[in-house]
Amino acid sequence: MDDIKKTGNDYDGDTKDNRDDNDDSYEKVCFMCRRTESQAGKMINLPGGIQVCSDCMQKSFDAMDNPEIRNMLNLQNFTGMKGFPDMGMFDIDYIRERMQPPKGVKKPKEDKKEKKPQAVFDIRSLPAPHKIKAALDDYVIGQEYAKKVISVAVYNHYKRVRTGTNSLDEIEIEKSNMLMIGPTGSGKTYLVKTLSRLLDVPLALADATALTEAGYIGDDVESVLSKLLSAAGNDVEKAQTGIVFIDEIDKLAKKQNTNQRDVSGESVQQGLLKLLEGSEVEVPVGATSKNAMVPMTTVNTKNILFICAGAFPGLEDIIKQRLTKSSSMGFESRLKDYYDDDPDILTKATTQDLREYGMIPEFIGRLPMIFALRKLDRRMLVRILKEPKNAILKQYRKLLELDEVKLDFNDEALEAIADEALSRDTGARALRSVIEEFMLDIMYEIPKDDNIGQVLITREYIEHKGGPVISMRGTGQALIGERQN
Ligand code: ADP
Repeated sequence: MDDIKKTGNDYDGDTKDNRDDNDDSYEKVCFMCRRTESQAGKMINLPGGIQVCSDCMQKSFDAMDNPEIRNMLNLQNFTGMKGFPDMGMFDIDYIRERMQPPKGVKKPKEDKKEKKPQAVFDIRSLPAPHKIKAALDDYVIGQEYAKKVISVAVYNHYKRVRTGTNSLDEIEIEKSNMLMIGPTGSGKTYLVKTLSRLLDVPLALADATALTEAGYIGDDVESVLSKLLSAAGNDVEKAQTGIVFIDEIDKLAKKQNTNQRDVSGESVQQGLLKLLEGSEVEVPVGATSKNAMVPMTTVNTKNILFICAGAFPGLEDIIKQRLTKSSSMGFESRLKDYYDDDPDILTKATTQDLREYGMIPEFIGRLPMIFALRKLDRRMLVRILKEPKNAILKQYRKLLELDEVKLDFNDEALEAIADEALSRDTGARALRSVIEEFMLDIMYEIPKDDNIGQVLITREYIEHKGGPVISMRGTGQALIGERQN
């Protein structure tokens, strides 16, 4: 075995000169079957800078054990190779561990789709609102007003956190908890997720529909703090300045005309009040509900930023009714359907409208920043496809680049994708599913032919009326078959 260790180190010496061993951006390729490490599993390094996958290695050993092949290769008396002991003693896992093979092909980045923006700010240095917004602009398209409000609110919040504890005067700055109103897929969650990553603060994502009043089946309101605690790696201090995002908050609206006790609506709003305001809460560590077996810790919510969000279906009608009622008399009177086509109607929501919707006044009162996100239109969806730093198109382009194939979309194709997504009525969320449907064929077919150099996606292809335009590495162009439904 000593022999092996020594030889293993020798092999490394072969490649160390011109490669950085810590650079893992290259993927190894099996010398025999040409599969990459991501396809064939970990490679074994052999003398001369050769790597072989464990399948091929095993096949070679099997072949050598076969008397016919030994005969053919004239290995009847062979018991070992230079640097290798007898084959029977050969321990692949041991060798694999000992040897660092050289690098070959550029490695596809792991899980491209989930590539996350890195923290760009240190929250302790309190980045100014315009800087926060500029960083958000790289990822979140449109929603200018929402980005502005959230940047200012976050700036104020952390300013308050920083000065709050040692402020000597009487003026206490209030918490800037937020309520975001916006249709599904308009970027509410994405905005908050991006923000927490840019600022490197822990974030808990919770769903209001899962919450119930303590003692009933479901999660207690404190469970949102357990989530935050685990996002902060159980560091209470860190969790206490984190962000809690509660989605589907509209589902907590008071049920109209009911005599039953509303354990998952109004009572949950009541339960959340103390968290929103700031209090010391006993939180189970590593679980979402309290019981005798779970250890508890105390979390102070005073400096936790709460962001609630919801689509509030039906709120438009309440706003319209109020607006038309208030302008139904006099010179400025408006017709009943005046606001019917107003795409920004939600931006006109007031606390009064939200109360009418079923949110209790104490709850709304603890969310001083109320703002709306716009429904994404076709133009915005096209921009979302191509502009963000980690745009879906950029991800696919990169994936095909690794096969040395250039992927292009013409403008009509992008519009067709946006149209298809719009018809599904789930905002930008539909974009990925639309793209994934047709990219499946491309990702399957293209690697079959090494001569393909470029693929152009067209509107016809998206609409199942034709194929993409394929260019060969030389010059020629061709159309490949239509998509299968
Ligand atoms: P919701 O408003 O329902 O919370 P999400 O934030 O979950 O919607 O959006 C779903 C996905 O759509 C996000 O993960 C993101 O990739 C994309 N998306 C939505 N809005 C935008 C936007 N304004 N800019 C860039 N991407 C967006």
